[in-house]
Formats: sequence, C-alpha cells, structure tokens
Amino acid sequence: MTQAKAYAATSATSGLNPSTIERREPGAHDVEIAIDFCGLCHSDVHTVRSEWRPARYPLVPGHEIVGRVTRVGADVVGFAVGDLAGVGCMVDSCRECDSCLEGFEQYCEKGNTGTYGVVDRRNGGGVTQGGYSSSIVVDENYVLNVPAGLDPAGVAPLLCAGITTYSPLRYLDVQDGDAVGVVGLGGLGHMAVKIAKALGASVTVFTTSPGKAAAAFELGADTVVVSSDPAQMAAAKGTLNAIIDTVAAVHDLNPYLQTLARDGALIQLGLPPAQMPPVDPGLLIRKRLAYGGSLIGGIAETQEMLDFCAEHGIVSDIEMVAAPELDAAYDRMVAGDVKYRFVLDNSTL
Ligand code: NAP
Ligand code: ZN
Ligand code: ZN
Repeated sequence: MTQAKAYAATSATSGLNPSTIERREPGAHDVEIAIDFCGLCHSDVHTVRSEWRPARYPLVPGHEIVGRVTRVGADVVGFAVGDLAGVGCMVDSCRECDSCLEGFEQYCEKGNTGTYGVVDRRNGGGVTQGGYSSSIVVDENYVLNVPAGLDPAGVAPLLCAGITTYSPLRYLDVQDGDAVGVVGLGGLGHMAVKIAKALGASVTVFTTSPGKAAAAFELGADTVVVSSDPAQMAAAKGTLNAIIDTVAAVHDLNPYLQTLARDGALIQLGLPPAQMPPVDPGLLIRKRLAYGGSLIGGIAETQEMLDFCAEHGIVSDIEMVAAPELDAAYDRMVAGDVKYRFVLDNSTL
C-alpha cells in the first residue's frame, strides 16, 4: 500500500476536506499514475451530496483524471513509466458479459466498477476512490493513452464530458449537414458543441442563461436559443435532426421535442435527482421521433474520442481550481456559473 493525499467528503453536507487514502501496490496488470489534473463533473456534485442515493463515505470523487505513469506491473504492455495517461468513469467491469466483450463496458451486465464510491470487485471489497487525489492504481485495460500535443489540463474533462457527448453523437451517426441541438451549456454541453461541429453538423444551443449567448457563438454554435423565450423556441420548431440534453436539473423535454424534424432523436444525458415531467407520446408518434439515453462510453470508444480530439485540436475550456476551492466550485457549478469545466490542480492537494 502507498499513501495518497486526497480531498474527501465524510457526509452529504461535510464538503470536501483534506484526507489521506491508501492505494494498492501495482499488480501485474496495473498502472500507477501520479495525477496532475482532475475535472469536476456535475455527477461528482450529485454523488458527494447524496442527491441520487446515499453515498458511501468517506468519498473521494473525480473521474476525469490525467497524470503521468510512475510504475507499471510486470505484464503491462500498453504503458511505460513517464507516459501521459488518463482514467475516466470506470476502472473495471466483469470482462465476460456480451456488453464487455463488445466494448461497451459501461453497460456491463454485472455493473461496471465506477472510478469512485462503489465496491471494487477485485480488491477485497474495498470502495473505489477517485481522482481528487495524488495517485491512482488502475488495471491497464481501463487506462487511456493521452495523445501528445493537447493541453493535459484541458484533456482531463474529455474523460467524462468528452466521451459522454461523443458516444451518442457517433451512435446517431451525426455527420456533415446534420442539425444538432445541445440543451444546457455546461461541461457536457460545451463538449457536445465542439464535437458536433467537428463532425460537420450545424449546432443550435439551448440555454437558460441569456448571458451565455455570445460565448456559445464563440464555441462554434450556429444558432443560440434562450429557452425561456417562447418566440425563440417557436422559431426553432422542426429544425433539428438530433438533440443532446445535458441539463443537470428537472426540466420539461416536450418543448425540445418540438424542435426535432421527422425521424429526429433526443438523447438524455443529464440525470437530475428527481423525476422529470412525462414525455408526450403524441409528439413522438406524429414525427416518428426517438427518445433515448446514453451512459459515458466504452474504453475503446474513449480512446477513439481522444484521438479524434487530438486530430481536431479539441480540448475543454477550463477554469483551474486549487483544492481548498472545491466546495465553492461545486456551488458555482450548481448555479450554472462555469465556463465550462472546473479542473483541479492536483499539486494543491
Ligand atoms: P454542468 O456543467 O453543471 O452543466 C449543466 C448545465 O445545465 C448548466 O450549465 C445549465 O446550462 C443547464 N441548466 C439548466 N437549468 C439548470 C438548473 N436548474 N440547474 C443546473 N443546471 C441547469 O453539468 P455537467 O457536468 O455538464 O453534467 C450535466 C448532467 O449530466 C448532470 O446531471 C450529470 O450528472 C450528467 N452526466 C451524465 C453522464 C452520462 O453518462 N449520461 C455523464 C456525465 C454527467 P445553461 O446555463 O446553458 O442553461
Ligand atoms: Zn462525469
Ligand atoms: Zn460485463
């Protein structure tokens, strides 16, 4: 065991405070990473504050991890000491079910092992602890190669916000000439804009924050709709082929479904802590619309996304925070006040 510095929550209301955790000695297939940067995802807020379900405390969140490899196990083939490596939302899965074998480890039929806050299927039943820490040890099959030439701090949010938006855009086969809507311009939303543009789509951003309009255009949006303005929503009716919904709070999807053209699809990514108003089946039926969801992405697809981002020069727009500022950053995220991802400078732990 080695000791790692960390910031942990001890209850839903404790906030994040300095702590120490133990990391296992690297096994034959393990990679040990000294973490340089870790993105702050809204899922961290939902989990730390027990908004989805009671969390397991003490809890060290963080699943947008970039760092340098410091040790590798004897059988590791894909990584060497000194490599820049990434870890996203999963550190393991059953490796035997159809989903795992098909490269969709996130949908593991026995449950993937999340990077933090879940029972670790391989380490004697301990609870996984995430990237607000100085190091992590992960099986190499769940570690990503970070391409050279991208800012490593800006890469960190790709490991969740990037792959979570890339996966449904690819699944929907978005390409040149398609019209994509993005609901909510936060961490996921701004990555959806960048990736959809790189795939050749025109992009409409739906935001509740009129103040974000100029920034949305700077990110590459072709159209910005302030969703509280009925005239702007009416003008968008029937214009879109696909919508990526990234809103972290309860909201009504029906006005967005009306902006889809025939055969359009709305993919839900945001997971608010309470039930949403029901979707009107009439809206789906009259235009053969599809309403679905999507969970992060598989490991191979995450590597594909990183390579795609390297090819297109895409990283996240970030605001760096020091460890003592984590609680304030969470509050700002809940208030929608972030452009567009906070990233923890792990040297400040
Ligand atoms: P975020 O950075 O906080 O962005 C969420 C955006 O939603 C806000 O910036 C805001 O954009 C919009 N919004 C509208 N009304 C809101 C309200 N009342 N409260 C808060 N936000 C509101 O969050 P994120 O990290 O992108 O995550 C978004 C959601 O996706 C979270 O629920 C998270 O748990 C979930 N998530 C899902 C997956 C998955 O695999 N499906 C992966 C990661 C995260 P505007 O100001 O433009 O309206
Ligand atoms: Zn996340
Ligand atoms: Zn599986």
